[in-house]
Amino acid sequence: MKLIIHRGTKEIGGSCVELKTEKARILIDFGMPLVDAKKEKFDFKELIGKSIEELKELNVLPNIKGLYNNEEKSIDAILISHSHMDHYRFLNYVHKDIPIYMSKGADELIKISGIFTPNKLNKINSKVINKKYFNIGDIKVTPYLVDRSAFDALAFLIEADGKRLFYSGDFRGHGRKRALFNQILENPPKDIDCLLIEGSMIGSGDQVYENEVAIEKKIADILKSANNITFFFASSQNIDRIVSAYKACLRANSTFVVDIYTAYILDRLRKVSKHIPQFNWRNIRVKFYKDQADTLANQVSTQTLYYYNTKKIDIEELKKKKDKILMFSRDKSIFPRIVKELDNVEGAKIIYSMWDGYLVPDFEEYCAKKGLIIEKVHTSGYATIDDLKAFSDALKPGVLIPIHTFEPERYRSLFQNVKILRDEEVFTLS
Ligand SMILES: [Zn+2]
Repeated sequence: MKLIIHRGTKEIGGSCVELKTEKARILIDFGMPLVDAKKEKFDFKELIGKSIEELKELNVLPNIKGLYNNEEKSIDAILISHSHMDHYRFLNYVHKDIPIYMSKGADELIKISGIFTPNKLNKINSKVINKKYFNIGDIKVTPYLVDRSAFDALAFLIEADGKRLFYSGDFRGHGRKRALFNQILENPPKDIDCLLIEGSMIGSGDQVYENEVAIEKKIADILKSANNITFFFASSQNIDRIVSAYKACLRANSTFVVDIYTAYILDRLRKVSKHIPQFNWRNIRVKFYKDQADTLANQVSTQTLYYYNTKKIDIEELKKKKDKILMFSRDKSIFPRIVKELDNVEGAKIIYSMWDGYLVPDFEEYCAKKGLIIEKVHTSGYATIDDLKAFSDALKPGVLIPIHTFEPERYRSLFQNVKILRDEEVFTLS
């Protein structure tokens, strides 16, 4: 079996891995980069109006034969580890007949992004993984559910030509699914010849909040002492975090107010897990925004909108109960509208529960002017260095290859049997 990392040996985001035998070729992940060649934020507007050939020239798309929709296909399948754009967003360019395998949760979230955000994928040949393992030609694939801020995220065991490779995907051990991480530590896949392991947290400093339970407790404490409304900034697709916020509301006897987009995500994932809070559960209400309501009615159904309407909360009620409200306000364009409607937000807190790289000076100035207090309450979606070490100690790979990291060289001081590859280098497992 041969391995080529097309992107990911020295950066976080845009991972793309190829595995091939004499008879089959597969890719794992095909995401949009987060940074450009100068390590500056990758601007997706770069893609607009450019052909596949132009994007290859610019080294935005990797040069992979038989992958794209302007040629004859020779890639047999693509596996997607989870529903973050840095792992799937380039699927738009792939040949429409290539089967794309992913979890049920990832499939739902990718589809919902296409409805509510500008991230609409072209039609792809998606296949929900519902088996313990499956074969693509002579390559055997076994998915492993992992703990991650992306819902229903997978790692993959790949077996071919008598070799066993494990692709960690992005994972962590301090989320609400730590049990999955522990299961792998206790009962790791055996005889792993090669481990591709992410290292997003290597070189990124320590965490303030240890895990999701610590986040839940902190949110509850803030709610208990609130004397105005509390805003909650997080990704609507970060289900672990939404569960933490909801549980905090139950502890503080506050009401969690979500928008229609978030209510719809939770609703769609009901089929995947019955532990996900729903709009019709106690202490949850829905705030309507016209654009979201129109999108739901036009692209999903008016019936769904009627359901959510039964739990709608209006501005007068929000004002009345303000010190008992946790208001989901992820979108910075929606946020000033709510602030305006509420009149007085002096002393209100914003629980900032996402990566603080998104926190721009403009926004901080705006908050200061309105008397809003930003409080960062976040824990990373990625594994800590201790957990990465525990993971590699459990798998004891013959070779450990860095991926999804800005710090490949630092792997040598943390792990055994490290082999650093370059993007596009062909590595033969032997
Ligand atoms: Zn990633």
